[in-house]
Amino acid sequence: MSGMIFEKAHVFYSPNKVLFGPNTVKGVGNEALQLGGKKVLIITDPGVVQANLIEPIKASLDAAKVPFAIYDRVKPEPPVSCVMEAVEKLKAEKCDLIVGVGGGSSMDVAKAVSLKATNDMSVLEMCGLDLAKKRGVPRILIPTTSGTGSEMTRVSVLVNEKENVKTVINSLYTLADVAIVDPLLTLTVPPKVTADTGMDALVHAIETFVAASATPFSDILAERAIEWIAHYLPIAFAKGSNLEARYYLSLGATVAGMAFASGGLGAVHALAYPVGTEFHLPHGRSNALMLPHVMRYNLCGNPEQYGLIADLMGKDVEGLSAMEAAELSVEAVEELLSTVKISFRLRDYGVTEKDIPKLVEGGMKFARLFLLNPRDLNEQDVRSVYEEAY
Ligand code: NAD
Repeated sequence: MSGMIFEKAHVFYSPNKVLFGPNTVKGVGNEALQLGGKKVLIITDPGVVQANLIEPIKASLDAAKVPFAIYDRVKPEPPVSCVMEAVEKLKAEKCDLIVGVGGGSSMDVAKAVSLKATNDMSVLEMCGLDLAKKRGVPRILIPTTSGTGSEMTRVSVLVNEKENVKTVINSLYTLADVAIVDPLLTLTVPPKVTADTGMDALVHAIETFVAASATPFSDILAERAIEWIAHYLPIAFAKGSNLEARYYLSLGATVAGMAFASGGLGAVHALAYPVGTEFHLPHGRSNALMLPHVMRYNLCGNPEQYGLIADLMGKDVEGLSAMEAAELSVEAVEELLSTVKISFRLRDYGVTEKDIPKLVEGGMKFARLFLLNPRDLNEQDVRSVYEEAY
């Protein structure tokens, strides 16, 4: 961590309670009872239902005699309209507790539904920092991918369909009352989604580890996440049923979420958002493909931390200068991307040179994230990173 950490005050956010480990999902009924839930709305998507991941939740709620309804129409990279549909269901079914189960898309819809149900504001009016006025309906969040860490964070990422742009509710009230992280729920994630979501978690850990806003808390968590994800992602990609790999990827994604919830993110996210929305790429994929390019641009802003990343990812940095070691972190990331079959060239995703101005315009809309990035960027810098990525 750079700078005089002992001169700064630090803030740390996390859910009230975290249950981690195999079969913890069976505790959801008990947690619902403890939260005083009379009727639960399960919020999820069709892929999660098809993978039979709702069954243990239904069984646990049945055993605890907590009735439930299901909203299972969450779309990937969810639009605000999904939130409105699920709020209607919550009201029609008179539910007073939410269980969001799935990847980041389902958990983020669950968070937004929770707030929309109690706040007399539109969803878009709540987008921004701490704009929601009231606590939401209590929520239990259960990830089924090892990626976003949404179960640990204070944000809900949605798509404003009118402008085709990502928008974020950043509110303390979106934090989970209980997060249940059960690695057994991730055994069915297909290799491509394992790669995209695992890289998303690695981006969280790396971005927060080098951020100007990193804290001692975020550093400790990000370090372990980088080590675990770099080691175990190729194994889980190759053999989805490997429980040891799934366990450490779950742990890695969860602590990476905890890390960035307090330590912040940077230019990878800013530049990836427009790539994802314009070219319809999953969030993890757009982050992954921009990562090495933004890292190369950033290296001189924090070579010590990038050198540590190289070391954590298994590179031999002994005897190297800070900058030489830092350069190895980009090499390590590019090798990992190649192993999990993710191209880091924009042209491989249908982007043409003519699209670059549109991407620059989109990236500049997230310039607020540049404040936390280890190196400043202006519009020309953003263009040069996209050109390099092309
Ligand atoms: P996702 O939730 O969109 O899921 C991707 C696909 O995987 C879906 O089709 C889903 O059905 C399927 N799936 C999920 N779990 C499965 C399982 N165990 N077995 C088989 N299939 C499974 O993808 P994601 O990457 O987890 O989430 C992406 C969303 O999260 C984006 O909208 C992104 O912006 C957001 N996000 C939020 C935060 C946050 O802190 N709130 C952080 C990062 C990203």
